[in-house]
Amino acid sequence: MRHAIFLLTLLLLAHPAPADWLREEADVMGTRITVELFHSDPEVAQQSIEAVLEEMRRIDASMSPYIESSELARLNAAAGHAAFKTSGELFSLIERSLHFSELSDGAFDITFASVGFLYDYRKSKRPDAGQLKEATALINYRNLILNTDQKTIRFNKPGVRIDLGGIAKGYAVDRCIGLLQQRGIRQALITAGGDSRMIGDRWGRPWTIGVRNPRNEDELVAVIPLMDVAVSTSGDYERFFEEDGVRYHHIINPASGKSASEMQSVTIIGPDATTTDALSTTVFVMGLEAGLQLINRMPDIDAIVVDRNGELHYSESLQPAKKMDAGVNPSAQPVSD
Ligand code: ADP
Ligand code: MG
Repeated sequence: MRHAIFLLTLLLLAHPAPADWLREEADVMGTRITVELFHSDPEVAQQSIEAVLEEMRRIDASMSPYIESSELARLNAAAGHAAFKTSGELFSLIERSLHFSELSDGAFDITFASVGFLYDYRKSKRPDAGQLKEATALINYRNLILNTDQKTIRFNKPGVRIDLGGIAKGYAVDRCIGLLQQRGIRQALITAGGDSRMIGDRWGRPWTIGVRNPRNEDELVAVIPLMDVAVSTSGDYERFFEEDGVRYHHIINPASGKSASEMQSVTIIGPDATTTDALSTTVFVMGLEAGLQLINRMPDIDAIVVDRNGELHYSESLQPAKKMDAGVNPSAQPVSD
């Protein structure tokens, strides 16, 4: 699987990380997880990696729409008929999702799934015009009725569905970073697909991330050194098929029920991965002008976007000059993805 963010170890090619840095990869949530960390006690380091992977699996088992027994799938099956009692964890993440819906006037909307489930990108399957019209009418985050005291959720129309694919991986990364911090780890990187968060530095240098060219996986359009932040990318090249020159991909514009077509990729940098994950999807749907306006209003958030024409744009506080900072060698190749 290809991801928009390449984690580059450019400086480390000359200065390899010492043996006591641990790195492990696994496939969870239908996506590639990478954990890299340092602890002076190798046993603590190894146990910490295992704790991260276990936490990822736990969240997948409760929030995957594809697992019939998941809490999310049970909510979808029940909440159209009666209020469904949720765990505090699921309830909070749905509340946070609604926050991004309000912030973006519905560009981010977990009820996109009312239409989303009709697409199958692997099988080049999409709804016909009639299905699209009917299902798009069900998309509206206001169709979710939350009872904060009871922690129940009800859909005010049958047929409404939710999917946390635009926020759950970022949430999982944040949870796992929290686990590492509890264990006294001060240098680590966790990546789940297009969502990453790092703590500290890597062997005395910043972590380095690259944004790939959405139309050429071997080319980077920006390289940035970073420390103690989260980064997420949403792209139209991760899950898609083409038909008659139209690209059908997994980011849905709630207004039309069709794939959002204003952007090729959106990368968001911010303090936590739940926020950057949700905002990368949000800005992708909002498009260039409205999306960057939203980001420029948020003091601790930055964006790097590639618009529908393949042109690169930055949010105000992220100067392009920064992208080749810190002695990064732009001709070096990514060593992992
Ligand atoms: P990924 O890392 O899986 O590519 P993204 O952060 O790019 O994730 O988000 C895409 C996912 O978000 C989709 O697979 C879908 O589950 C969900 N999604 C799609 N459109 C929307 C939307 N308008 N609002 C909220 N979530 C969405
Ligand atoms: Mg996202």
